[in-house]
Amino acid sequence: MAFLAGKRALIVGVATDRSIAWGIAQAMHREGAELAFSYANDRLKERVEPLAASVGSRVTMPLDVTSDEQIDAAFERIEREWGHLDAVVHAVAYAPREALTGGFLENTSRDASRIAHDVSSYSLTALARGSRPLMQGRAGAILTLTYLGAVRSIPNYNVMGLAKASLEANVRFLAADLGPLGIRVNGISAGPVKTLAAAGITGFRRMLNRVAEVAPLRRNVTLEDVGNAAAFLCSDLAAGITGEILYVDSGFSTVGMSFPAEAED
Ligand code: NAD
Repeated sequence: MAFLAGKRALIVGVATDRSIAWGIAQAMHREGAELAFSYANDRLKERVEPLAASVGSRVTMPLDVTSDEQIDAAFERIEREWGHLDAVVHAVAYAPREALTGGFLENTSRDASRIAHDVSSYSLTALARGSRPLMQGRAGAILTLTYLGAVRSIPNYNVMGLAKASLEANVRFLAADLGPLGIRVNGISAGPVKTLAAAGITGFRRMLNRVAEVAPLRRNVTLEDVGNAAAFLCSDLAAGITGEILYVDSGFSTVGMSFPAEAED
């Protein structure tokens, strides 16, 4: 059974066919959801529109999450097209590249901090505010993407870890606010996946290698792994789950210590 049949979802954060948002869109499409897509700027419009068309979507729109006008316009468009909304996927993050390398103290400026928090955390609040009237009276679901750097220090992740910690708190506060309306808010903490955003983090390949070496499943997660979990969290199968961060990371975050097989004695 297609467990998202009849659901309508806005996907925010597709940049390429390697984007986590695209993995989620594919899983949600497979499960019967009707999708709308946004793109952050004109350059990405050309990439996003063909991807949207390939899953039968005819609703695409510009949406830079730092612009309140564009957020308002996006939800007005959804209201005109559909009249309501069942799910929003927020897969958006940004910090200036120079902040995602080297020492935390040296490379975390006031400006980088402001930008990272605005784009990567506050934007969830803004999208939740925009979607609330369209989800009124429905079993709405809001989903965001976070990373282990929210709760552990990770080399080079730096200010983005602070922004993800803020984002995870955002999930809990939004869940408390919107729960009485029947709207659920959750996050997926994904293991590293090679995407455009990930390419901005110094040493990303080493992160991938480390996970494959140490995680219980001894492999990195795929777009399908994250997409399937996201489709579940956006569906009525997850009706009792809100304010939660679900780790889709091959179990990496659960390991306290691990020895390479060849080192066993
Ligand atoms: P990606 O580069 O494919 O996606 C990032 C998206 O953010 C892009 O679509 C980009 O256009 C969008 N974006 C940036 N600034 C924006 C703005 N001002 N307005 C609107 N959109 C904006 O990379 P991704 O890895 O798929 O990232 C998606 C989410 O997953 C992010 O929140 C990221 O932190 C999170 N995540 C990624 C990994 C990973 O290893 N790739 C792991 C855990 C969590």
